[in-house]
Amino acid sequence: LSPGDISPFPQPAKVPEVTHTQIFINNEWLNSINGKKFQTVNPATGVKICDVEEADEADVDKAVEAARAAGQRGSPWRSLDVSSRGRLLHKLADLLERDRVLLATLEAMDTGKPFLHAFFIDLDGSIKTLRYYAGWADKIHGKSLPVDENFVCFTKHEPVGVCGAIVPWNFPLLMFTWKIAPALCCGNTVVIKPAEQTPLTALHVGALIKEAGFPPGVVNILPGFGPTAGAAIARHMSIDKVAFTGSTEVGQLIKEAAAKSNLKRVTLELGGKNPCIVFADSDLQLAVEEAQKGAFFNAGQACTAASRVFVQDEVYEEFVRLSVESAKRIVSGDPMDPRTTHGPQIDQKQFDKVMGLIESGKEEGAILECGGQAQEGKGLYIQPTVFSGVKDNMRIAKEEIFGPVQCILRFKSQEEAITRANSTRYGLAAAVFTRNVDRALSVSSALQSGTVWVNCYNALHAQTPFGGYKMSGNGRELGEYALAEYSEVKAVTIKLAEKL
Ligand code: NAD
Repeated sequence: LSPGDISPFPQPAKVPEVTHTQIFINNEWLNSINGKKFQTVNPATGVKICDVEEADEADVDKAVEAARAAGQRGSPWRSLDVSSRGRLLHKLADLLERDRVLLATLEAMDTGKPFLHAFFIDLDGSIKTLRYYAGWADKIHGKSLPVDENFVCFTKHEPVGVCGAIVPWNFPLLMFTWKIAPALCCGNTVVIKPAEQTPLTALHVGALIKEAGFPPGVVNILPGFGPTAGAAIARHMSIDKVAFTGSTEVGQLIKEAAAKSNLKRVTLELGGKNPCIVFADSDLQLAVEEAQKGAFFNAGQACTAASRVFVQDEVYEEFVRLSVESAKRIVSGDPMDPRTTHGPQIDQKQFDKVMGLIESGKEEGAILECGGQAQEGKGLYIQPTVFSGVKDNMRIAKEEIFGPVQCILRFKSQEEAITRANSTRYGLAAAVFTRNVDRALSVSSALQSGTVWVNCYNALHAQTPFGGYKMSGNGRELGEYALAEYSEVKAVTIKLAEKL
């Protein structure tokens, strides 16, 4: 892009001061009970953005009380017509559209992701998720069942109750809407904790939830840390369900806390070590572009990252050559600049983890084709990195890197590719590149993975279920499938005087 080309794109907002930095309970803005605050920092500059109130267990208790009261029988929320529930979700989507530039700016400041990615991807996905579930609100219904003897039976789908949610920092607003939209459309109330690195867009949406007209207590937002506020949600005796997105290790803690407290329902969306299989009969240029989108999108900070690219022998050298060329064209820089496509890692801990894994790749004998270094200057930037000659037993082939590192592995036969792709504890996403439809279908059946993309990558839609096999998680988000995670099924059986 030359400077003259940038005018068709939206421009970031000027944000002299962040408006919403408090805890949101009962549609009110509150300071934390223990008086603590924490800083949120722009990872592209290392500069503090603002202080935010830090919720802890006592604030969680208060939020749960508000959510419980808001969902009680006879409450305004519980007695709202189902079509009005849908209209409220549409209204919230309208307000996100109105504030789209501001929200994308806050997201870019808080995460370091390019403003245009936030505007076109995160905001688009969030708005579409709200609208998709707005449409479901008056279409959630049970069945009438034929049963033996002189009974009639029907089922009703009811809200689960108070839904806790804990979300990560890589897609803060998108993960927030993936949690609240299905929960609200099914009539639940919500207590949600954004990640400590990225609380700002969730809090702004708190103001929009109030403006849209949701009754007090229906959504409560608790900025704070995992081991304190997050753990208090997971073990709370009066929370009926918890939905978590983040690391597999914390996912295990959440499930344990749920089991040891009140057996609340748990859905988990965790890590991945996602295989991307490129067959010799694929459109190679397409495969290179999509695999790189998979590896480098969001600076590699995506649970769906294409972190193991298996390439068939015949096209391997060419694939590596084209991938290196493509990686070198990626533009890192100021997230607010429309030319930037690559931002920093979220924080020092993640930066160190990624750099440590890059070092391990070098030490274990992978071939560093490009990148591999931190970028000079301010901010937590790591160069887009391509390793070839990666072997299955190397750490970079086994561990989730969550950074801009593409690992290319060589394979010979289809059977070998399937076996190696499946030999991981994860099973979130996978991709297959081939022009042969038979092959695409049989390989997608054989892959142990909640999502399989054929000739594309990161193709996510509000209508399509998303979630993992194996240790990538439990349950599904999005689509009709997510409704089951947010509803109880009640069977009502009536005895009749005689068999009809
Ligand atoms: P994390 O799992 O610690 O954090 C995710 C969320 O869980 C945050 O809101 C955090 O506050 C909360 N949390 C942390 N400890 C908790 C606890 N004991 N109880 C309840 N909630 C808790 O992830 P991280 O430390 O930020 O990142 C570590 C690794 O996790 C990354 O390198 C990456 O591999 C993975 N990760 C995955 C995703 C994803 O989208 N699946 C997102 C972020 C991180």
